[in-house]
Amino acid sequence: MLYKNVTISASKSIALVAHDNMKSTLLAWCCKYQESLNQHRLFATGTTGSLLSEQAKLDVTKLISGPLGGDQQIGALITEQNIDMMIFFWDPLEAQPHDPDVKALLRLASVWNIPVACNESTADFLINSSLFDAPYEKSIPDYDQYINQRTK
Ligand code: PGA
Repeated sequence: MLYKNVTISASKSIALVAHDNMKSTLLAWCCKYQESLNQHRLFATGTTGSLLSEQAKLDVTKLISGPLGGDQQIGALITEQNIDMMIFFWDPLEAQPHDPDVKALLRLASVWNIPVACNESTADFLINSSLFDAPYEKSIPDYDQYINQRTK
């Protein structure tokens, strides 16, 4: 794979997702950081997004609920360079009906070099990083070169 550098802006697009047993943890975390989070564009799966907009007063774009395709919507946004960071509190102790979608989402986040927090302490490190509110240069797959190579 060939890679290229891109710079993501100081104002970021952040995906927020929590499985049912983790929603209270994400809600408390978002309430704590509400002011910082509202400086960025926020996206969330359906139920998570509704909770966060009602109870944490966040301005969130709500996608479809995770089990009905919301994880896949976030994955698609990642491939289109429309998500810069993901806070995904997935449940390590309970099987999910949409486990293949969860795995696919985490895979795409790795492919596209997206910073991902899967638990509260990692989320704390991300949001308290000096890079959280700064432009950041990172490497991503060079899609044009990838296609050129495959069609030679
Ligand atoms: P939800 O989806 O926010 O609609 O509950 C989250 C998920 O299970 O991926």
